[in-house]
Amino acid sequence: MSHVLAAVAWPYANGPRHIGHVSGFGVPSDVFSRYMRMAGHDVLMVSGTDEHGTPIQVQADAEGVTARELADRYNRVIVEDLHGLGLSYDLFTRTTTRNHYAVVQELFTALERNGYIVKRTTLGARSPSTGRTLPDRYIEGTCPICGYDSARGDQCDNCGNQLDPEQLINPRSKINGETPEFVETEHFFLDLPAFAEAIGNWLDQRENWRPNVLKFSRNLLDDLQPRAITRDLEWGVPIPLDGWRDRNDKRIYVWFDAVIGYLSASIEWARRSGDPEAWRQWWSADAQGKDALGYYFMGKDNIVFHSVIWPALLLGYSGEGDKGGEPGELGRLNLPTEVVSSEFLTMEGKKFSSSRRVVIYVRDFLERYDADALRYFIAVAGPESNDTDFTWAEFVRRNNDELVAGWGNLVNRSISMAAKNFGAIPEAVDLTPEDEALLAVAKAGFATVGELIGKHRQKAAIGEAMKVVAEANKYLSEQAPWKLKSEEEKPRQGTVLAVALQVVSDANTLLTPFLPHSAQKVFELLGGEGVHAPMPRIEEVDDLDGGPGYPVLTGDYTVGARWESVPLVTGTPLAAPKPVFRKLEPSVIEEELARLAG
Ligand SMILES: [Zn+2]
Repeated sequence: MSHVLAAVAWPYANGPRHIGHVSGFGVPSDVFSRYMRMAGHDVLMVSGTDEHGTPIQVQADAEGVTARELADRYNRVIVEDLHGLGLSYDLFTRTTTRNHYAVVQELFTALERNGYIVKRTTLGARSPSTGRTLPDRYIEGTCPICGYDSARGDQCDNCGNQLDPEQLINPRSKINGETPEFVETEHFFLDLPAFAEAIGNWLDQRENWRPNVLKFSRNLLDDLQPRAITRDLEWGVPIPLDGWRDRNDKRIYVWFDAVIGYLSASIEWARRSGDPEAWRQWWSADAQGKDALGYYFMGKDNIVFHSVIWPALLLGYSGEGDKGGEPGELGRLNLPTEVVSSEFLTMEGKKFSSSRRVVIYVRDFLERYDADALRYFIAVAGPESNDTDFTWAEFVRRNNDELVAGWGNLVNRSISMAAKNFGAIPEAVDLTPEDEALLAVAKAGFATVGELIGKHRQKAAIGEAMKVVAEANKYLSEQAPWKLKSEEEKPRQGTVLAVALQVVSDANTLLTPFLPHSAQKVFELLGGEGVHAPMPRIEEVDDLDGGPGYPVLTGDYTVGARWESVPLVTGTPLAAPKPVFRKLEPSVIEEELARLAG
């Protein structure tokens, strides 16, 4: 048994999330966490909404609300959506808590003390008419690299290159169109080159990473530059240094504060659990947590933050970069065990885009379809190791042909036949080699499926679980228990159904990490009582340090099924089942495509 940290990428709170967002890391991290808990590990799954930075400030200004009001709105929307998907966070919080501010400032302070944060003079933009600082994203101009005429001061959306505002050709303010003036301004930079060697050594020891992630990360080390960690902006975590902490125009850069969220959320979880030091079991590189495992789940566009920048912060905080130093007051901290990145999901052949309406939001999806139907699609056809296209035709086909006609049909016909003929789980007597073979296939699934989930090969894992389902359907067709009607055939009919039901129960356990909502229902149809697949709940909490309250996702996941075959008890009463999955009409495809076309 190990302590396992599941650190899930933080959704940005500037709008509702679409299914592309949850396909890459939201659902896969939940599948992994549920399996690891069932296998007996002590899992801590944390994340939250990422709420600072210019995009939220810009959007809030456009809507005439404060950045905090905008973040409050979308924090709640996102919490509700993730709850609807059944994602079993131990804590899903946000970056605007006072706890998070304190942890971010503690890391900043220790990194500065250890010499890894350096001050530099750069050029910053200012509005000539108001004298106010213009944040990077408020400046627009022509990209010096590709010539795109609406590049932003921090990035060109056309060629994807990161920019500084003074590089833009014909820069203009997005607020009033005037030409900004550039003046010297001071900012803090993280001395990334001081970590190149330590990160290189650490990457050399990584095993089991997806090869493309490891290669990409190693290549980044060849050209590490100091990276700005403060910005001209009012919305964010204040800089915790004398002469800076009271300034209203300088804040810690959003990426620096967001990656620290994994740690601050773990600390918040521990403080709420009644044992404020409990987080150390997953984080402390000294005795308490030194054997803990940490898995980070994200889209491929975020690899750099998790395989280079976050390790650099952790190394610098622990005093383990080129410049040495002393660990901060939290002690030496664990680096990630594995960075699990997913590829991208597209929709009907196009990139998801809210502005171009190539989108389906999680909320709208869950209003029309079941959470497990989406979870199934993501597991079998998600962007695990290739960019993948979501099409409505494929969604309907997978739902109807595989989930309903394969798994749902097996559950439905085996339970209804047993309920009708026996009213209970029948007795299995005189097992034939065919009976034994099927039971063995199901039992063997625990090792196969579990190992694949542990290696982040969820597509192969659910494929193996569905093979058990297919074998059981084949067995039922061959044994044809509906033909065994005479009095002397009755014991054989009971045996076939008992074997089928045992395999339904085992397959249901194998599918539980993927399909927790329906797994609970199937468990109950088989006469089970209590919690089989624990679910998260939304809790309204007070900020622990006097800030405004907010909703979190949390839950008790110590209950529920274990990763093992549990023998069904002969004589347990069974009732005729209601279908667990819904068949979708083919007309759904046209309706959804019409919605997309607007
Ligand atoms: Zn460009």
